[in-house]
Amino acid sequence: MFDSAAILRRSCGIALACAIGCGPAAAHDPLCAAPARIEGAASGFVAMTLRDYRPVFQQCRNAQDVTRLAIRRMGAGGDGFLLTVDPATLSTSLEHDRCWTCADTSEEAQKDTRFARAALASAQSQGRALPQRSPALRNAGLIHGAGAGSYVTGDLCPARGPLDRSFVETLKQAGPHTPVALSISGLWLKHHGGDFQWLRAQAAGGALDITWVNHSFHHPWIPGHPLESNFLLTPGTDINAEILDTERLLIANGATPSVFFRFPGLISDAALTQSVRRLHLITLGADSWLIFAPVLRDGAIVLVHPNGNENAGLRLFSKLFDKGAFPRPFRPITDAP
Ligand SMILES: [Zn+2]
Repeated sequence: MFDSAAILRRSCGIALACAIGCGPAAAHDPLCAAPARIEGAASGFVAMTLRDYRPVFQQCRNAQDVTRLAIRRMGAGGDGFLLTVDPATLSTSLEHDRCWTCADTSEEAQKDTRFARAALASAQSQGRALPQRSPALRNAGLIHGAGAGSYVTGDLCPARGPLDRSFVETLKQAGPHTPVALSISGLWLKHHGGDFQWLRAQAAGGALDITWVNHSFHHPWIPGHPLESNFLLTPGTDINAEILDTERLLIANGATPSVFFRFPGLISDAALTQSVRRLHLITLGADSWLIFAPVLRDGAIVLVHPNGNENAGLRLFSKLFDKGAFPRPFRPITDAP
């Protein structure tokens, strides 16, 4: 675990330096022709290997005059990298920082982009307050998607058992490149390196298009404990570390984090949702947990748990899938806001 306050302090210093201009955009550098790959992430589980991982908010331009927003900077193997967002499509990519010229930007300067509008809307959607004037919120954020079809999301909360691969096999029947958003916790990834790489192989082979949603690193949860001091509302929780450590682990293991964050248990409060926004992420809720209340209308954000802890929910998913009950097509979560 690292000192996120120190990282934020460092990032401010670096942001100041980059306001003057961060590196030339290399027009003929072959490394700039495609998104970056960070070495040491091809198989199994890799511990965090990134240096100086820090939040930034910069507008960047490359030699082809493409514009992206950088939300993180990091170092690996002597090179510098950016985690960037396309402000129109919300897709993310890792890039070599030497391929881009960046300068600090602000929420105000970006307020008309789809990305900024989506982040603001998710932070303003306060979900459902819990009883007895509790400050805790249930299901804050983006809870319903745009347009026709369904958005399938699966949460990989920490679990002892293996990934329920039958869920993936069911999804694959929808055709190649079936989109699915998987909300991954750092502890699940740490203990399921084989399953994680199997999922990446499904994506690399063209069966699935996976969007990796951040589900916090530790995903604290005490069964039966009051919600206002449970999940990420557990006293002592460092929300910045929970978010940034999960991103670092994903990147070190060959994946690219998306701009979406899902609260464990869908439980948050106003301070937590603002913390998510300050890190330039979109809070992702759900229409409902499928097992409790199946929502089968256009735009439904469907939530199941393929982490081995929700067999009944996955049986229901499979049954509804076979009946053609989910509105089609299945759509990438980047289409939802
Ligand atoms: Zn969870």
